[in-house]
Amino acid sequence: MVLAQLGGSIARALARMKDATVVDEKVLADCLNEISRALLQADVRFETVRDVKANIKTIVNLDALAAGTDKRRIVQKLCRMLDPGKPAFTPSKGKPSVVMFVGLQGSGKTTTCTKYADYYRRKGFNPALVCADTFRAGAFDQLKQNASKAKIPFYGSYIESDPVKIAVEGVDRFRKEKCDLIIVDTSGRHKQEAALFEEMRQVSEATAAFDQAQAFKQSASVGAVIVTEMDGHAKGGGALSAVAATRRPVIFIGTGEHIPDFEVFDVKPFVSRVLCMGDLSGLMDKIQDLTEGAFTLRLLYEMFQNLQNMGPLGQLFSMIPGLSAQFIEKGKEKEGQAKIKRYMTIMDSMTQKELDNTNPKLMNESRINRIARGSGRLVKEVVDMLEEHKRIAKMWSKLPINNIRRPNSRDSL
Ligand code: GDP
Repeated sequence: MVLAQLGGSIARALARMKDATVVDEKVLADCLNEISRALLQADVRFETVRDVKANIKTIVNLDALAAGTDKRRIVQKLCRMLDPGKPAFTPSKGKPSVVMFVGLQGSGKTTTCTKYADYYRRKGFNPALVCADTFRAGAFDQLKQNASKAKIPFYGSYIESDPVKIAVEGVDRFRKEKCDLIIVDTSGRHKQEAALFEEMRQVSEATAAFDQAQAFKQSASVGAVIVTEMDGHAKGGGALSAVAATRRPVIFIGTGEHIPDFEVFDVKPFVSRVLCMGDLSGLMDKIQDLTEGAFTLRLLYEMFQNLQNMGPLGQLFSMIPGLSAQFIEKGKEKEGQAKIKRYMTIMDSMTQKELDNTNPKLMNESRINRIARGSGRLVKEVVDMLEEHKRIAKMWSKLPINNIRRPNSRDSL
């Protein structure tokens, strides 16, 4: 069951209860059974569902339910499930931290390592990536490529097969280089692979042994949870179960395959999204990112990505007449999509410097020729795209949305 369906089921169960003429024990039990069914179908562990059901039963007041005012308390209960009340690990600038990523094979660890590093790099940290995944062929190249794309120092080895050794060497090197957030990617685990679990324990002990081994052990093996693939086909229940299993909070969610597809996890907007109430806070974060910096080509790229999957930013842009007419107007979707694809292919051949550029003189003839050659497009198409970018940036800067202040996310429910 995908996230929206889970939200729909819960919302419908609550609405039915609210609409009932008399809310008695039976109506409440039916509602809770329906919510439980939805949670189980969304992969929430049975024990968690059982606890939630028992908890909700004890907190609701049937009279208040009849008046429809206790819906909020049920929502609060769901929020509390996602907030174990224990602090998550957060790195501190200038103070070296080692973060090890663990998770099942294919769960998005390698991708998420880079997203996590990039997030903190933007916050002024000095992160580094270490590939201690010697199990999966291709992990080294994948992380190295991602790291160079995000301009983050990387350590790994093609030939060394001992992950503990690589992790120790990498952490040691980056500590000397004064990196304050050293991220170690490990091999994927299958539940039955005891040997791999042992390896994971050794990596964690060896890398933490440099200092604070004791503190590391005390702070439990899991510091925080990141839920990946929350876009589209994700099962929202994974987040609930992860919190219930580890008693640690979810700190980020992955919302796509690319580096910027990464959001700080905030319980209330999440629950409001589960309940189909719309996620205003995520959108506001994006808007803030956009309004704080210049409207670079990188932002245009991100905007196109969002338009393609109609993420929150895409929905916002679809409301801007000049843009919607060009890229997503009804009846012209095919042409709009083709244009977006063409522009993105061109931007894929640009350097990081070009994507982040704010100097109007940078894009000279030789750069334009190189980009055209690299992307297999005509020079004229590259020039058109650059002109289009300028037009959109101008339109963007005039929008009243640039004056919006971000509301307190607590207000969103
Ligand atoms: P690992 O084996 O755990 O290191 O997993 P990878 O990082 O190689 O990811 C497996 C696949 O999931 C890759 O194709 C990623 O691009 C994709 N992926 C990772 N995170 C996300 C996400 O948040 N959303 C989507 N849609 N795909 C993701």
